[in-house]
Amino acid sequence: MAVNKTHSRFITAQMREYALVNARRHSWVRDQRDRVLAVAEAWVNRSDDVLWSMVPGQELPRTLCTTEGVRSRGVEPGCPNCGRTGFDQYRMGWWFIDGKKPWTLTCRICSEIYPKNNFGEFYVTALDSTHVFRKELGDRSLLFNKDHPDPEDPHHRLYVDDGYGMTDADGNRHDIIAYYCHYGIWRPIEGGVNVLGEAFAFTGDRRYAHKAAVLLDRIADVYPEMDYLPLHKMGFHHSQGGTGEGRIEGCIWETSVARGLARCYDLIFDGIQGDEKLVGFCLEKSIRYGLAPKDSIDNICLHIQKDLLLEALSSVKDGRIRGNTGMTQCSLATLAIALDDPELTPKWLDWLFDPEYPGEYSKKKDAIPWVLTEGLDRDGVGGECGGYALIWLRQMQKLVQILSAYPEYHQDLVTRYPKLKQAFLAESRLNVLDAMMPNTGDSAIVGKWERRGTGSTYMHAYKIHGDKRFARLAKYEQEIHGSDLRRDLGTINVESAGAALEEAQSIIDGLKGLSEDVFEDDPDRLINEVTQEGDYGTRELRSEFFGRYGQAQLQSGTPRNGRATFIHYGFDKGHSHQDCLNLGLVAKNMDMIPDLGYPEMPGNWPKGVAFTKNTISHNTLMIGDRGSELSPGGQLEIFAEAAPLRVMQVDGSNAYEEADTYRRTVAMIDVGDSDSYVVDIFRACGGDNHRLSWHGASESAEVSGLRLDEQSTGTLAGPEVPYGKLDGEKGEFLGKSGFSYLHRVARSRGRADHPYTVDWKIEDIWDRLSEGDEPHLRMHAFTDCDEVAMANGNAPRNVQLPRYLIQSRLGEDVNSQFVNVLEPYENKPFIREIRQLEVEHELRPEAVCAIEVSLLDGRKDFFVSCEQPTEVKVEGGLYFHGLTGLVRQDQNGVQQVRMVGGTRLTSGAVNLETEVGILRGTVTGVDVSDQENNLVYVDVQLPAGNSLIGRTIHFHNDLPLDTSYKIKGYGDGAVSTGDLTVVRGFKNFNDYDSGHAYLVNRGDEFTIPLVSTLR
Ligand SMILES: [Zn+2]
Ligand SMILES: [Zn+2]
Repeated sequence: MAVNKTHSRFITAQMREYALVNARRHSWVRDQRDRVLAVAEAWVNRSDDVLWSMVPGQELPRTLCTTEGVRSRGVEPGCPNCGRTGFDQYRMGWWFIDGKKPWTLTCRICSEIYPKNNFGEFYVTALDSTHVFRKELGDRSLLFNKDHPDPEDPHHRLYVDDGYGMTDADGNRHDIIAYYCHYGIWRPIEGGVNVLGEAFAFTGDRRYAHKAAVLLDRIADVYPEMDYLPLHKMGFHHSQGGTGEGRIEGCIWETSVARGLARCYDLIFDGIQGDEKLVGFCLEKSIRYGLAPKDSIDNICLHIQKDLLLEALSSVKDGRIRGNTGMTQCSLATLAIALDDPELTPKWLDWLFDPEYPGEYSKKKDAIPWVLTEGLDRDGVGGECGGYALIWLRQMQKLVQILSAYPEYHQDLVTRYPKLKQAFLAESRLNVLDAMMPNTGDSAIVGKWERRGTGSTYMHAYKIHGDKRFARLAKYEQEIHGSDLRRDLGTINVESAGAALEEAQSIIDGLKGLSEDVFEDDPDRLINEVTQEGDYGTRELRSEFFGRYGQAQLQSGTPRNGRATFIHYGFDKGHSHQDCLNLGLVAKNMDMIPDLGYPEMPGNWPKGVAFTKNTISHNTLMIGDRGSELSPGGQLEIFAEAAPLRVMQVDGSNAYEEADTYRRTVAMIDVGDSDSYVVDIFRACGGDNHRLSWHGASESAEVSGLRLDEQSTGTLAGPEVPYGKLDGEKGEFLGKSGFSYLHRVARSRGRADHPYTVDWKIEDIWDRLSEGDEPHLRMHAFTDCDEVAMANGNAPRNVQLPRYLIQSRLGEDVNSQFVNVLEPYENKPFIREIRQLEVEHELRPEAVCAIEVSLLDGRKDFFVSCEQPTEVKVEGGLYFHGLTGLVRQDQNGVQQVRMVGGTRLTSGAVNLETEVGILRGTVTGVDVSDQENNLVYVDVQLPAGNSLIGRTIHFHNDLPLDTSYKIKGYGDGAVSTGDLTVVRGFKNFNDYDSGHAYLVNRGDEFTIPLVSTLR
């Protein structure tokens, strides 16, 4: 093998030139540069010898948590001195690394320092002939507790770590040195390499390139031996997704490690050509320690290419480098392009497009054509929950950026794969109130608002697609949210648990916010285009829904005073909770019934599995006292807006096998500019013990109209069952009730057979409220229950202990229709009273309900909901035939009438009647040839005009995921879904030429619930 690479690719000599010119002209460029140089300073001032000696080898273990057995066996992690406190407060980052005290960790809680031996002395004695640590070679007489030097002292060997952990008085292992090795050695080295590479790119100063090369050369010495699996088997923890594999780090995070090292090699390549000092240094080391021959720059490069880049590439194939979808692909592309070999690079890039990618180790084949055709759903969202879903789309965006550095290898991803464009649009759509993306599955922290979408993303999209929509989105981000329009450079930045080491944190800060524009001829060209683009238009809150991702959100008002309610029904998503049909409600600037968020630990962490991810912790229905299916998907059946009424209905009957019906209907009804109430109807048939779970974002709640008795001991599982007791021994708690995680229990005395209310005064744990704000959530409950209980459940790390309300209908083969109304209010309620009304109809009793809502201002709403259209006579003289109806009255009589999927709604003399309530028909074909105008042909005459535009069309088929669309246009016998494709994926997974499989197919029936209004 020879070095065929001729020049730097990701940032070329020309781009470095531009950066120098731009730095002279623009202070913002100098600011970025100076931030990088400030952190690079420490690295460039270290001697070659110091840098070279920093790099440890395979036999010094790396771990993310000092406590062994924490994930699989549920061992509480903790400092040997003070116990578990630090974990609740800092997760795994409760250890601090003091730069002045090498090879030790300091507990942030109690300040105790571990280990008690001087590991540094031992380390030096354990270096082999190639200067690599081998535990067996070390002088074990140095392994003793410095505070107890007398060998007769019983504490002489206590808290002594030889690299493989120290044992406490109870026999538990604590991996102090291994944790230090990850956060105190490898993370700084990886960050240091990245920072040196960027420093060279900004300045062209060869000193940075030289120091980076010293590190890369030394890493290449040890890399072939680096392998995580043996460490995993010894009980060390890393980011390895259950496989135990990896190289320096676990296989998931190794994708970033490898990408960073490869990018740096490419960046500095130009800067080390002719560096004779580098040759001298490496040659001296290679002779002294018997390493690969390094008598020329070519040989040093060859060593890095062969023992680092190609090694890492081989691990993309053997599974030791594999992350979430998109991470591995970006890693591979960066490695291959950094290698820059006319023969090898295209071969490796071809592998990205090969149906067999990534290799035999994985059943899941996710080559780029698959990801962009099938992996991303029609909305451009990845197949996971929360932030994980965004990894897919962000990595695909990044991939386009990476591949552009190697124009010889041309793949037209942009025009070929329409889902790529949706991937750029998805983030802003996923927000509710233009302010937060609902927490779903393993994501974020209870009640915390995280907004998605940035100016940088839309600028990248605009650059790639040239679509003016992105220009307007970018401008909106800038003007409304103060977003920077500079395009992110694609630097690899590594995380550090709670900044275990200050230097690691400074690297992270130094690498933040570097932009691609710096390296362009005119760094303002694109931004000028965007700012001249004119107005971004209004960004009204829109009600939206997502297909496979399974998030339907009703919204009303403005971002300032808005309300949003959402249902989750995702299909086949990684990192899911057992949360089918979970309900969310954001109002009064607060997440009122928040998801509990990311468990303390991923994987089989007992509380995570038994409670946080389990059905009972969510605002949804548990059947049979066990968790529902993971991510079973659901079908949107109604999604209609007719202000003041907005309504959605989702069928989730795959959630429980024994349930024939598992369906939630949610209506949001506005009563003013800043207030709405939410009617929630949960219908279920079949299975034992129906328990509808709720929790408000508050530790306490006031109950009126129902007497609860405190249970002085135990948990919801029973007075004798202590907190956290698992339903079974190892592993058996999976899918069980989780009731032992609900404590401070109070239960109704017998049946609850009359209405009652529960009021949560929402806690402001994230400092969102202003002086005088006092948001509440009041729930009005109507359904007869065998028991109503309240209890507290602890969100991960006890960030909040929300008060739960569990409405239980007990017995075998239960049929339920739970009716509840949620009233989010500020300071004072706006509802005077709600009554459930008697209804007469032909369907089963649980299929229909009606309520009368009396508002404090004297108005009255009558609301009716039916599972399917049927003739209903409502107490008080209302007649209805349809799916959802609303009549609003004031002292002058009927004010407004709204009907969804209905043909008749009569209240006294006021009568709203139409011929067709639901438009039905059959699909005759699809046409996806125009990406901006996907067409579905139908067999019925569509009404003239544009009354259907904005309405929702639901296609009915055997697919487990939702296939509803908003109608963007229609005519000539076809309905347009606009630029949302109806392509699901490939017909044949292994053959990309097999043609497409569709979400909508010839023969599918469809329904369009129509909206009728009066006044
Ligand atoms: Zn401590
Ligand atoms: Zn959840």
